[in-house]
Amino acid sequence: MVDIQDAGQALKRYFGYESFRPGQEDLVKAILNGQDCLGVMPTGAGKSICYQIPATLLDGLTIVISPLVSLMKDQVDGLEDAGIQASFVNSTQDMDEQFLALAQAAQGRSKILYVAPERLDAPRFREFAQHTKISLLAVDEAHCVSQWGQDFRPAYLGIGDFIRSLPDRPTVAAFTATATEKVRRDIVYMLGLDDPYVAVTGFDRPNLFFDVIKLESKYKNRWVVQYALKHGDDSGIVYCATRKETEALADDLTKAGVSAVSYHAGMDAQDREQAQRDFVNDKVQVVVATNAFGMGIDKSNVRYVIHHNMPESIEAYYQEAGRAGRDGEPARCSLLWNESDIVTRRRLLDMDNGNDRLTGEQTEAVRAEHRRLLNVMIGYCRTTGCLHQYMLRYFGEEVDQAAAGLSPAEADKGKSVPVGHPDTGSGGCQNCSNCLSTFTTIDVSDVARAISRCVHDVNQGFGSGKIAQILRGSRSQDLLRRGLDRCPSYGALDQVPEARIRDVLNQMASDGYLYITEGRLPMVHFGPKAAQTVSPDFHYEIKRTERPRASGKVYGGRSSST
Ligand code: ADP
Repeated sequence: MVDIQDAGQALKRYFGYESFRPGQEDLVKAILNGQDCLGVMPTGAGKSICYQIPATLLDGLTIVISPLVSLMKDQVDGLEDAGIQASFVNSTQDMDEQFLALAQAAQGRSKILYVAPERLDAPRFREFAQHTKISLLAVDEAHCVSQWGQDFRPAYLGIGDFIRSLPDRPTVAAFTATATEKVRRDIVYMLGLDDPYVAVTGFDRPNLFFDVIKLESKYKNRWVVQYALKHGDDSGIVYCATRKETEALADDLTKAGVSAVSYHAGMDAQDREQAQRDFVNDKVQVVVATNAFGMGIDKSNVRYVIHHNMPESIEAYYQEAGRAGRDGEPARCSLLWNESDIVTRRRLLDMDNGNDRLTGEQTEAVRAEHRRLLNVMIGYCRTTGCLHQYMLRYFGEEVDQAAAGLSPAEADKGKSVPVGHPDTGSGGCQNCSNCLSTFTTIDVSDVARAISRCVHDVNQGFGSGKIAQILRGSRSQDLLRRGLDRCPSYGALDQVPEARIRDVLNQMASDGYLYITEGRLPMVHFGPKAAQTVSPDFHYEIKRTERPRASGKVYGGRSSST
C-alpha cells in the first residue's frame, strides 16, 4: 500500500517540486486509494502530475487517453527526461514502432502509455489490454466524451466500453478544464466512473487583470493598435472571430509599426508553423489569430490577450485569455465587445447543425445548452461585479466571500454604485476593470416604454434596426414605402441617439422584456416580462461605466506595475 508521503517524495525525485499545488494532493490520494476521480482544473494548472505521480507508484501500467496526438511525443520525452519510463502508440508511428511500444508496455518496461481514443478499437490494442495489468486509466480532456460540450469527439464514446471489456477494472481518473454541470455529469455517466472523488481547483489566476470594454466595431482595430504601440516591448495575442478579421488587423498593426502576424486554419501548415515559431521565439510581437491558435503552445511571457469579439462561452474565453501571464507576472486580458457580437454569436449557433449522431430533438437540446453557455458569456460582459469572482463562481471553485466584494446582484440594485472600489473598502479583487470602475445608472424607462409600444405597433414583425429607425422618425425610403411613418410610435424618440435605443432594446432582450428571434432575419418579439412595461410602476435603467482610475496598479498593463 503506497501512501501520500511516497507521492510527495516521488514529486521531488522525478519533477523536483517541493509540494503539490492545491487540489493535486487529494486527487493523487484518491487514485492511490483506488477511487475513481474527476479533476476539473484549467489548462496549465497541473493535471498531468495528478496521474503521473500515482503511475510511478502503482504496480501495473497507466494508460493515458489523450486526443492530442501531436503532443504525445513531447510528453513522453519529458517523462523520460524525468526518469519515468513512458511510451506512446499513435498514427504517427509505423507498424514496427507501434508493435515495439506495446511490447515494452506489456513487459512492464513502460509505466505510462499514451494513446488516442481511436486506438481503443484496434484489435491488436484490445488484445494487448486483455493481457496486461492496467492499474490506472487516465482520461485527459474528458469533456470530449460529452455531446453537450463544444469539443465532442465521437471516439471518446468507446472508452466506457473499453473499460468494461478489461478483465480487471482499473481505477479511472478523468480530467478536464470544462466546468458546466451537464458536461461533468456526462463524463461521470459515459465513462462509468464509480462514486468518483471530484476536485475543482486552480481556476484563480490572481496575476491576470481582467478587463471588459464595450466598443463599437469600427473602433476596435484602432484600440488594439494603440494598445500594442503603448506596450511595444510586450508579447500579445489578439483573438478574432474570423480569418478575414485576423488578416485585416494584422495589416493595421504592421502598418502602424507593430511586428504582427496572423494565424488561422486557412493558412498552409508551413506558414502557420512559421508564425507560431516566430511568436514563441519573440521574433514577432503580436499574433492575431482565430481560436485555431494556442493549443499546446508553451509561451510563458505573453503579457496580454485581447479578444476582438465576444467568445462563445466562458470556458473558451478563460482557456484563451489564460494563455497570458503563465510566468506568474502581471498580464492583462481585455475583452472588446458590443451588442452586434451577440447577434453574430446567436446566428452562428442557429446555423450549426450539430453532428449526424444526433436526432433533430437532441440537436435542438444541444443548441439550447450552447445558448445557455453563450448567455453566461453575455452575463460576463454585462456584469458590474468583480470579473474574477464571476468566473470563479461559474467554474464552481470555492471563493473567499469576504474578499469577493459586492455580488453583481447587490451591485445592480444601487445607483451610481462603486463596485468593489478600493477606496470604499467594499473589497473586490482590485485587479479587474469592474473593481476599478464606478457605474452610474441612467433612467431609460421612457425609452424602454416607447420601444415596447413600437414592437406592439408593428405587430412584432420587424428587427431591431427598423424599430430604432421608426422611433427616430427616419425618412429612409424603405420605411416610407412600407408606410411605417404612419405607425403611432413613429418619431417618438427623435431626440434619442440610435445607439442608445439599440442598447436599451438589447438589454431589454437579455432581461426578458423582449425576445429577439434567432432566425436569419431576427425579429423583435415580446418576452415573458413584456407586460410589466405598461405598468405605471415600470422603471428601467442602463449602466454607464466610468473609468477614472486608468493609473491603477496593473490597469495600464505590466509597464505601469513595474
Ligand atoms: P495541465 O495538464 O493541467 O494543462 P500540466 O500538467 O502540463 O498542466 O502542468 C503545467 C505546468 O505546471 C508544468 O510545467 C508542470 O510541470 C507544472 N507543475 C505541475 N504541478 C506542479 C507543482 N506541484 N509544483 C510546481 N509546478 C508544477
